[in-house]
Order: sequence, then C-alpha cells, then structure tokens
Amino acid sequence: MPLKIDLHLHSNVSDGQLAPAALVETAAAAGLATIALTDHDTAAGVAEAVRAGAALGLQVVPGIEVSTRSGDHEYHVLGYWVDPASEAMRRHHDEALARRRKRMLGMVEKLQGLGLAIEFDDVLRAAGPDVQALGRPHLARALLEAGHTRYYGEAFVKYIADGGVAYVSERFPTVGEAIATIHAAGGMAVWAHPDPDRFAADVEGFAEAGLDGVECFRPNLTAAEVGVLLRKTEALGLQPTGGSDWHGPGRASLGDFYVQPHEVRGVLDWPLQRPG
Ligand code: AMP
Ligand code: ZN
Ligand code: FE
Ligand code: FE
Repeated sequence: MPLKIDLHLHSNVSDGQLAPAALVETAAAAGLATIALTDHDTAAGVAEAVRAGAALGLQVVPGIEVSTRSGDHEYHVLGYWVDPASEAMRRHHDEALARRRKRMLGMVEKLQGLGLAIEFDDVLRAAGPDVQALGRPHLARALLEAGHTRYYGEAFVKYIADGGVAYVSERFPTVGEAIATIHAAGGMAVWAHPDPDRFAADVEGFAEAGLDGVECFRPNLTAAEVGVLLRKTEALGLQPTGGSDWHGPGRASLGDFYVQPHEVRGVLDWPLQRPG
C-alpha cells in the first residue's frame, strides 16, 4: 500500500463544499495519510483541520492558495506551512477577503444591470455560513439555484468567465508580493497548476522572486507534461509538489488522485530544512 498524499484541497471556508473537519474525515476514510488545506486567500480553516487530523492520525499541512496577477495573467501561489496567526497571514486574509466582497458586489450589480433578479444575499446563502473567501463558484451556484442558468458551468460561459459580460477583475497582488507574504508567514511558496503554455516563459522569473516549488503532479496531465514540469523544476533547484485541487464530491472522489512521499519530499521536509 503506497502512502497517499494530496497537497491541494479546498474547504467551505473558500469555495469547497465540505467543512475543514469533514474534509479531513473524508480524506482519512479515503486512505490519505497526509493532506494540505489550501483555501483561496485564507488559512482560516487550518486550525479546525489540524485538530481533526490529530484526532484521526492524519497529517494536515497548513496551507493557503493566494490569487495573484502579474502582467495580463492570473496565477495562483500555494503557501505551505504558513502560520495562520502570523501578521502576514492576518493582513492578507483581511485585505483579500474585503477585495473579494467588493468585487462580488460589483459582479452582482453587473448581472442586475443585465436584468437578472439576483442579490448579494443570494450569493451569501449559496456560499453557506462558514464562508470567508467569496468567489465566482459561489455566484455560479446562486445563479443556478435562482434558475438563471441550466447548469453550474453556464454561469461562466454566459457571464463571469475571465473577461465575461459580468466579470469584475481584482487588484491582485503580484506573484512576487504573494511569495513575500508567504515567506513572512513562515511558509514555502509554490506555483499552483502552472499553465504548460506559460510555464517555460515565467518560471525563471518567479524563481528569482523567491519561488520555492512547482505543483508538477496533478490530475489530467499526461506523463509527458509532468516530465516537462519536473525536469525544469529540478534543474532550477525548486521542489516538486502535487495535489488534486479537489473542491468537493462530484466527478472525482477524494483519494482518486494522490502523490507519494518521495515525489513531494521537499514539502514534507520543509519544517526541518527551512532557513532560520
Ligand atoms: P475567483 O477566485 O472568484 O476568481 O474564482 C476562480 C474559480 O472559479 C476557479 O478556481 C475555478 O474554480 C472557477 N472558474 C474560473 N473560471 C471558470 C470557468 N470558465 N468554468 C468553470 N469554473 C471556473
Ligand atoms: Zn477554488
Ligand atoms: Fe487555483
Ligand atoms: Fe485550488
């Protein structure tokens, strides 16, 4: 039996479906030995997940997934081993969540301007009482529940995909700023799900900005695509990582995808090796 690890999971503190403790219980039942909780722009669910993990003998790596923009492109940067109580994490949480709220109000207003009956409260209801980081998936659920769309993804197709008629962009931090925030919180910074078309052009600049790792292993990549990411990552002295980016029960089950300890050694050993 391989030791199964998944280092990229979302809870209902952002746009996942399960509460942190329920996510950990589902992971344990699926035979995972180590997981990371990486909610969008907040580590607010980490304490609950770590507690649940301790009770079940499952290791929970504290994490976050920071939304950024550099140039015209949106990038997500994972932080592993961040301290949720640090000044850097608290400040990021406060700023990013306020920004997400304001942006959601803007998208709701645009939809109202298009004649759709939708209120900010409908989004909050769709997101659930535990939500901290509001995101477009919550708006897509609200539109579906209100009968404005026939299926979940139609909200993106018709309205809120990047550049869509009701899309509102955010003033995101840059990749370099996200890396600095993660480092200030004691964590290691990892480029999440790099677009294979952009990877070669961007990775060296990000490495110079202090990037520590690259998410090389994830579902839906061919072995050849993983190989391209891995070779470059290792050539630059960065740590390979991997995870499913699972948001809740749906097409895939938690545990269908996993990595093994030797593939993500750099993350597992980070607390022993980090500078200072
Ligand atoms: P946000 O953090 O509010 O910008 O929302 C980003 C999230 O929306 C992503 O993590 C995806 O889960 C989802 N998303 C973005 N674009 C699409 C799309 N075209 N179709 C379905 N989901 C999308
Ligand atoms: Zn998400
Ligand atoms: Fe992401
Ligand atoms: Fe994610």
